[in-house]
Amino acid sequence: EAGLYIVATPIGNLGDVTVRAVDVLRRCEVIACEDTRVTGKLLKHCGVNTRMMRYDDHASDRQREGILDLARSQPVALVSDAGTPLISDPGYRLVRDAREAGVTVTSLPGACAAITGLTLAGLPNDRFLFAGFLPVKEKARGDVLSELANVAATLIFYETGPRLERSLKTIAEIWPTREVAVARELTKMHEECRTGTASDVATYYAAHPPKGEIVLLIGPPDVSISTADPDALLREALQEVSPS
Ligand code: SAM
Repeated sequence: EAGLYIVATPIGNLGDVTVRAVDVLRRCEVIACEDTRVTGKLLKHCGVNTRMMRYDDHASDRQREGILDLARSQPVALVSDAGTPLISDPGYRLVRDAREAGVTVTSLPGACAAITGLTLAGLPNDRFLFAGFLPVKEKARGDVLSELANVAATLIFYETGPRLERSLKTIAEIWPTREVAVARELTKMHEECRTGTASDVATYYAAHPPKGEIVLLIGPPDVSISTADPDALLREALQEVSPS
């Protein structure tokens, strides 16, 4: 059972840790984590005493090699502060190097804010595109949004409270009619999900400045034919050529 274990952890509610995660974290030789205090709380809650070490993707190659050397003979876990490692979190370089070095990689699925938000928002979910955090600078944020304008899918972003209103205003300018959803404090006591046009939701949050963590979702552009049934356009086109 040596190898690198990518272990998802809760995004708020500690009850969401999986039975398998606790079992693997307990058996591991070491747990690589972003912040030993944050992960320490989870381990305490789960009664796990495994040693922790800090890791992020800025770690030196030598540090990464050290972790992978250990993972050849012992189980080693990677967790992030919350949710699924690698998803807007460290781990990409470690997994890449592990695969290259022939170290076994195992991924233990669990909470992920993007997916939790998607399942709560009631927006079309047959196609979605997760695009991480929107850029901080206004111009770059507008550029990213315009670049995604023609994507026939629900768009998912991670966002922070202080930036939400400005992002919603930019979205309202580009897409006044697309439905958006703000999923906040998922799995926590003050969980909420608000939907409407970007300007409606912006008005609400101008009056109620949002605290905590946020997933921002934008429903697909109104080309329902391609979102409801991606093959419908093609079938229609074919029928025009050879009516049966
Ligand atoms: N790896 C994590 C995951 O699987 O969801 C995401 C890590 S990323 C650094 C942190 C961002 O995820 C937050 O800024 C927020 O946008 C989102 N997030 C994390 N937990 C959340 C929660 N409980 N409710 C809403 N959004 C959350």
